[in-house]
Amino acid sequence: MPGPSSRSRVCNVLVIGSGAAGLRAAIAATEAGSQVLVVGKRDRLDAHTVLAAGGINAVLGTRDPQDSWEQHFADTFREGYFLGHPRVVEIMAREAPDAVRELADWGCQFARLDDGRLDQRYFGAHKYRRTCYAGDYTGRAILYTLAGKAQQLGIPVVEDQYISRLLVADGVCFGAYGFDLVSGERTVFEADAVVLAAGGHTRLWRRSSSRRDENYGEGMFLALEAGCRLMDMELVQFHPTGMVMPEEVAGTLVTEAVRGEGGHLYNKDHERFMTRYDPVRMELSARDRVALAIYTEIIEGRGGPNGGVFLDISHRPKDEILEKLPRMYRQFIEYQMLDISRQPMEVAPTAHYSMGGISVDPETHATDVVGLYAAGECTSGLHGANRLGGNSLAETVIFGRRAGAAAAAHSRESEVQRRSKKAVHDAEEELQSLIKPGSELARPLQRALRNLMWEHCGVVRDEARMRDGLRKLGELATAAETVDIHPGQEGWVELEHVLDLRAGLRTAEATLRCALERRESRGAHNRSDFPALDPALERNFYTRVEGADQPLTVWSEPVPAIPASLKRLLTDEEMEVAGRLLE
Ligand SMILES: Cc1cc2nc3c(=O)[nH]c(=O)nc-3n(C[C@H](O)[C@H](O)[C@H](O)COP(=O)(O)OP(=O)(O)OC[C@H]3O[C@@H](n4cnc5c(N)ncnc54)[C@H](O)[C@@H]3O)c2cc1C
Repeated sequence: MPGPSSRSRVCNVLVIGSGAAGLRAAIAATEAGSQVLVVGKRDRLDAHTVLAAGGINAVLGTRDPQDSWEQHFADTFREGYFLGHPRVVEIMAREAPDAVRELADWGCQFARLDDGRLDQRYFGAHKYRRTCYAGDYTGRAILYTLAGKAQQLGIPVVEDQYISRLLVADGVCFGAYGFDLVSGERTVFEADAVVLAAGGHTRLWRRSSSRRDENYGEGMFLALEAGCRLMDMELVQFHPTGMVMPEEVAGTLVTEAVRGEGGHLYNKDHERFMTRYDPVRMELSARDRVALAIYTEIIEGRGGPNGGVFLDISHRPKDEILEKLPRMYRQFIEYQMLDISRQPMEVAPTAHYSMGGISVDPETHATDVVGLYAAGECTSGLHGANRLGGNSLAETVIFGRRAGAAAAAHSRESEVQRRSKKAVHDAEEELQSLIKPGSELARPLQRALRNLMWEHCGVVRDEARMRDGLRKLGELATAAETVDIHPGQEGWVELEHVLDLRAGLRTAEATLRCALERRESRGAHNRSDFPALDPALERNFYTRVEGADQPLTVWSEPVPAIPASLKRLLTDEEMEVAGRLLE
């Protein structure tokens, strides 16, 4: 059946993804004089950033005047197990204060002290209080602020658009091809430069803090197919505490603030097991360590009836719980009819954040493809092997701004506007070829993929399980070729599901292949067959497509050298990571 005809829209800078990174890029490009178009597959006020809860980091010194950008750098770089790009970490630490003040100036409703200054609270493993927040709805407050600013500037945001392919000719990106999820209408988006800000890939795991139909690694897939390298795909943060039931919400985040407010972790024998894993910091240890501890308890048979351990805050007064953890209180009443002021929650690790992603230039976030930039969770380089909470929202606005400005400069400086009818035709043909009757359905295959990643590349990995995972992934990929899609009615959403599946299969492969090569345990990457950190692997693992239908190739390179001026910060005793884990 022929698809609806393609129309075309032309702009200087096309932004894919309307989360915080995409909107901030669009604002920067517009302010630099470009005509900008933002496309996203969701409603513009409902991009995934809306879920972010606890806060955004910036050294403002409101509560702790002794804090410094150097300390923020040191905490981030060290907690990332030295795999972050030193310059990326430096930029984030230096520029976060201006980025947060700017959001506040644009009307973001951050919490303030009585004297009007922005309040700051502790977040895990930060030495000082440097996390600004808007209750536990910080992501929503930031997204609404950026959307308001974009509207003021007259930036069009096209909703319900699924981008299926980047348009590339001779190594130059000149736009993207997509379709409308409601009408099915196809659009060729032509642009001088493109900013990809399409989020992470943590929905690939059975238990995930992401929501449905997001975070299948769509942006990473588009970049990979366009010729970009991905970096450190094996580095995926598992948040220690996600809900375990009911099944449809398993993985939903149980905020770190529960432990920050004094919550205790127990196994089924009512033992406070953190005494065996980190007797000093206990429940307030770093995320990677608490996640591994909980995982070990469960695997060794000391878990609860639903496959989790117990997180108990019921020893705190109910009034305090209602004041400090209102969202958590509501969440457990709504889904489990459980009153957390009286009973413990059952929790288990949940896939939460992609620390790896598209390889980018540290200054401009240019990718390997000319005219293509990337920002936000789909990129790599900031968090190393363990992300500090609150740093990713800072990353979205700081590098969103840089990528948008660089894309606008590229557009301004381009002498020719490259176009290729063949590239457009190929994108049309590719999409059309997916619409056919078949024997499989996308949803069950998505579920099988999520189970596969959970079982074969979860909190703890080993070579045999990962190799088996790759084999099963091949079977799933074969099955995915015969997915049934009927256009119309549910048809366009079915097409979204199959494209998500396609992206997920490739990013899963990237994750498994990089995880196989990292033969050590470091941060969030735990190998039971290589339980120790290997100093020789202070390297980043890269992957890319060498040819159609070929397995991805993987190689590693040393982390860029850290300048002496920054290295000094890491050896200074004052710069020791304090390991405080309070939200
Ligand atoms: C529950 C939760 C709580 C969190 N809390 C915090 C916190 O307190 N502090 C913090 O710093 N971080 C937090 N994070 C992480 C942070 O929210 C994200 O890293 C950040 O919001 C990512 O923003 P982004 O703009 O890069 O991408 P996103 O906000 O994910 O936006 C990308 C958008 O691109 C769209 N898209 C994807 N593929 C396509 C396609 N092919 N075509 C069209 N559109 C597409 C998607 O619909 C998506 O909305 C949290 C994350 C979760 C899940």
